[in-house]
Amino acid sequence: MGLLLKIFIPLLGAALAFYFYSASENFSEEMLRGKRVIVTGASSGIGEQMAYHLARMETHLLLTARTEAKLQKVVKRCLELGAASAQYISGSMDDPSFPEVVVKEAENSWGGLDMLILNHIGYYIGFQYFNGNIEEIRKLMETNFLSYVAMTTSALPMLKESEGSIVVVSSLAGKAGSPFVAPYSASKFALEGFYNSLRHEFIIDKINISITLCILGYINTESAMQAVSHVIQGTPAPKEECALEIIKSGALRQREMYYPPWVLRGTLLLRDIAPEFLDSIIRSSYRVENLKR
Ligand code: NAP
Repeated sequence: MGLLLKIFIPLLGAALAFYFYSASENFSEEMLRGKRVIVTGASSGIGEQMAYHLARMETHLLLTARTEAKLQKVVKRCLELGAASAQYISGSMDDPSFPEVVVKEAENSWGGLDMLILNHIGYYIGFQYFNGNIEEIRKLMETNFLSYVAMTTSALPMLKESEGSIVVVSSLAGKAGSPFVAPYSASKFALEGFYNSLRHEFIIDKINISITLCILGYINTESAMQAVSHVIQGTPAPKEECALEIIKSGALRQREMYYPPWVLRGTLLLRDIAPEFLDSIIRSSYRVENLKR
């Protein structure tokens, strides 16, 4: 009976979750036309692809990352694809003053903001055993977590006014522990805790800003493949589709999105009903022999 309940309740939960998520699948590009959107980490990878999708949807774009030359190219392409406007601001999110500078730029340019897409990550330290380097973790938390909080804080007045959306790009590593990514995983778990708490407060205070947490698996961006392809088995999912799914989930004001959906839903279901079994599957999916100590 106990085991039955242990399996039945999560299965029922998954079925209900599937029903609610798929029931609201009525995305249309019109929802984003003319909207004012900030995308962080937009010079490459998933962020760059989001910028191109949003450009086709005729949004106003403010893109940010560190590398100016790459941002210039992305902005140019966005304008060719039909963006209502596109601009960039370059800088590093490990500078505590930079998040506010980005948001101010949006305020000066548009006088408001509809969607804040937080996507950047400092750097993949790479897959490795935790080496005890606390300074590295501090820096990573500044870029991957605190800058998200700082951008959100600065953008709140404009998002309240527009009843806008916050989209936070996270990872399976922020939901289930995996080996060799302890600092990265910690920064993603922190996002989960912070934004789930903030969402409660918005609802209690009747603040109509949606918060969407995007839980991603292995995606074929250059940096991810460079960092992990020698260690992880399996085929990465396409970044273009991933980027579109993130945008859709934000426009639909979903609580969470999963990409690729079934792999992640299955993994999280297993985490809840048989965590040790999941841990052993995770461990056996790594080519540990390819890791440097
Ligand atoms: P990516 O290709 O490495 O892109 C990272 C972006 O962040 C780049 O635009 C980079 O541009 C920018 N960035 C790096 N350091 C920065 C800093 N200090 N300040 C400001 N911007 C900085 O990464 P991705 O694979 O597309 O990942 C995007 C998001 O998806 C991340 O949140 C990641 O955790 C999540 N995710 C990815 C995967 C995957 O397999 N790809 C899996 C799970 C979750 P500059 O270098 O020019 O600054």
